[in-house]
Amino acid sequence: MIKFSDPIDVASHCARAALGMMDRHGVPAHPNNFVVWYAYVADRDPELTKAINGILRSGQKFNDMVSADLFERFFGTSQQEAELRAVGQRIEDAVGRVIEYLSTANQGAETYGAALESFSGELARGPAVANLGTLVKTVLDETRVMVEVNRQLEERLENSSGEIARLREDLDQLKREATTDALTGIANRKLFDVSLREAALEAQEDRKFLSLMMVDIDFFKQFNDTHGHMVGDQVLKLVARTIQDCVRGKDTAARYGGEEFAVVLPETGLKDAIQVADTIRRTVASRKIMNRRSGQLLGQVTLSIGVAEYDFGEPLGGFVHRADEALYLAKRQGRNRVLSQDDVNAAGSVGFQE
Ligand code: GH3
Ligand code: MG
Ligand code: MG
Repeated sequence: MIKFSDPIDVASHCARAALGMMDRHGVPAHPNNFVVWYAYVADRDPELTKAINGILRSGQKFNDMVSADLFERFFGTSQQEAELRAVGQRIEDAVGRVIEYLSTANQGAETYGAALESFSGELARGPAVANLGTLVKTVLDETRVMVEVNRQLEERLENSSGEIARLREDLDQLKREATTDALTGIANRKLFDVSLREAALEAQEDRKFLSLMMVDIDFFKQFNDTHGHMVGDQVLKLVARTIQDCVRGKDTAARYGGEEFAVVLPETGLKDAIQVADTIRRTVASRKIMNRRSGQLLGQVTLSIGVAEYDFGEPLGGFVHRADEALYLAKRQGRNRVLSQDDVNAAGSVGFQE
């Protein structure tokens, strides 16, 4: 989450510029949209700038869906983070209660211990037989109290452990949701970023290959315009499922944004990654999209895929950029194809400056 702490004059300049741009592009000045455009004008996040520039270049309209997607991608985790924090707080409270119960029980045990000690002290002194009865009664009473304290403790601990187990499940569920794309059910952009970072560290440490695939559906705007967004969404699910089915367990297939997907492939060199990419491409291209309800055949969708291999220690931005460049070359060369960084080099395209 980006924090805004600009001085008043900068903030007011950016705010005016953002509102002006929103007006020009027909974006309603809702708070969420404003956050996006302010951050764009203030150039806060290179990825956001890239995303908006891409949309501007493509002439695409900033309709509600595009705007909501931008907000969700760059700022949309705060609600989930708040929920995660709330569950974390409840777990902390429950643990605090357990500690309280234990200390109460401990006090009970201390009192009981003291009573037993004084009883054995009395016994050692050889008490009068007449007093023995009273002494035994005191010990019995203290024992009953201790039994009761223990019973309560057991009950409370049982309740607490049930509560903590439930909260842990909530937490796991929230964590899963926070890293899952709601539409397709595969990893979201956030998990992709984390996975790529971790995979790069591991690759560097173990000196193992790491490849990255950027996938983009061809002419998807046209598909949506022809068949509607609901059908488009079903296609996104189908593509996501196909990608997921074609990769191994240790790979991370993620929805990178709108109709773009990305796959992190640890322990995989460029040649093998190209092969996996081509399997995905062929599988999707061979699927006939059908409207299940009407039985109408809607045609096919194809994918363009760019593949890059990690250079140990390089900035991750450069790695992603190389895969992106290969993807754009695949688009330029006619789509429905897999190209790699080698093709970009061969085509004499300009590389990323580190
Ligand atoms: P290209 O082959 O160059 O990639 O063309 P394209 O039409 O796929 O690319 P463009 O970037 O112009 O348009 C992407 C389209 O993807 C715009 C939007 O209609 C669609 N899209 C993005 N996100 C979603 C989504 O969540 N659901 C649906 N149904 N469509 C989406
Ligand atoms: Mg795209
Ligand atoms: Mg596309």
